[in-house]
Amino acid sequence: MGLDIFMAQLMTEDERTTRIGKKFDCICKIQCSLKLVSCDCDEPGGAKESKKYTHSLLKQGFSDEKAISLYNEKYSGRLRS
Ligand SMILES: [Zn+2]
Repeated sequence: MGLDIFMAQLMTEDERTTRIGKKFDCICKIQCSLKLVSCDCDEPGGAKESKKYTHSLLKQGFSDEKAISLYNEKYSGRLRS
């Protein structure tokens, strides 16, 4: 985890959003079965919006870990195993 935090400091918010997006299944309503990062569906509560939300959390200075848990609260995201 220590290394993970160190890496996060070297990454841009875009890169970190991408990295987080790879951890989740997409939450869009058509159930595209893509990873969140790969979907670009533009509906309320869809992939575009939720990635934007993640990005805004990182911009506010939240850690990746915290952003993931806030994302989960808002979208009840499904973590990929
Ligand atoms: Zn989708």
